[in-house]
Amino acid sequence: MNFSLVLHGGAGTITRALMTSEKEQLYQSGLKDALNTGRKVLQYGGTALDAVCATVAVLEDNPLFNAGRGSVFNHQGRHEMDASVMDGSQLTGGAVTCVQNIRNPVLAARHVMEHSQHVLLCGAGAEMFAKEHGLEFADDDYFFDDFRFAQWKEVQHSETVQLDHTEKKFGTVGAVAVDIAGNLAAATSTGGMTNKKWGRIGDTPIIGAGTYANNTTCAVSCTGHGELFIRSVVAYDISCLMEYKGLSLQEACDLVVMEKLVKIGGEGGLVATDALGNVAMPFNSEGMYRAFCTPTDSEVLIYR
Ligand code: ASP
Repeated sequence: MNFSLVLHGGAGTITRALMTSEKEQLYQSGLKDALNTGRKVLQYGGTALDAVCATVAVLEDNPLFNAGRGSVFNHQGRHEMDASVMDGSQLTGGAVTCVQNIRNPVLAARHVMEHSQHVLLCGAGAEMFAKEHGLEFADDDYFFDDFRFAQWKEVQHSETVQLDHTEKKFGTVGAVAVDIAGNLAAATSTGGMTNKKWGRIGDTPIIGAGTYANNTTCAVSCTGHGELFIRSVVAYDISCLMEYKGLSLQEACDLVVMEKLVKIGGEGGLVATDALGNVAMPFNSEGMYRAFCTPTDSEVLIYR
């Protein structure tokens, strides 16, 4: 029985010097909770798609991470969330962007994939779709967090748009998996950047940029400076390097994250797995919240 699951909780300026031991404990246990949730799905023969959605939903429910409940504030002081999923066995994908008050955007993205003729729905339309499909909504209080609010207040009256990756803040979540049937899936969810305006959308809900899965190559979920990840079509590039150039998962990830992205100043990282259950977790930032498990191995990591 072979499966693997890899997740991330965001990459950025994550160093021991900026961390307290209490905080580190909280992050560790948040990552472990999510990993165990996904692992159980895979252990009992569940699909990679179920595993990545369950894993990401747990991270969305944890205010420590910039997704779902812990989403950062935009310029208007609201939460606008993005999420996407892709099923590598069908090459189907679903995504929502700029949505408010949907409790688990990743589940909305999955619904778009499975219950609509579309791939990407935005804003009020996506919310209407989620309502019609009985997805859970939460009021603004649920998404309010003192820390995130203070983060936003610092930059509210400036032109600064902050990645949740700078000195004090880290976020965005994602997971990839291969199940015992050899099917791959990927899911990613984010609140985006603090103080973002004009309906800014990052790489997270863009299939091929922030998320990609293909049974014949790999599953990828990204975190980092979305604009640069979109321009580099990061997730699909890794799949292409494997498919057309015959690179291994690790080689493809290293080339894209440690060379191509670095060249254009694209800070961040990603998690990936191939159909054999090999995992890769490259990042060019100082740290990345990450964890993986296979039937025989598991680890939670934060720093370089
Ligand atoms: N990639 C996300 C975005 O640009 C942010 C992140 O990964 O933290 O919206």
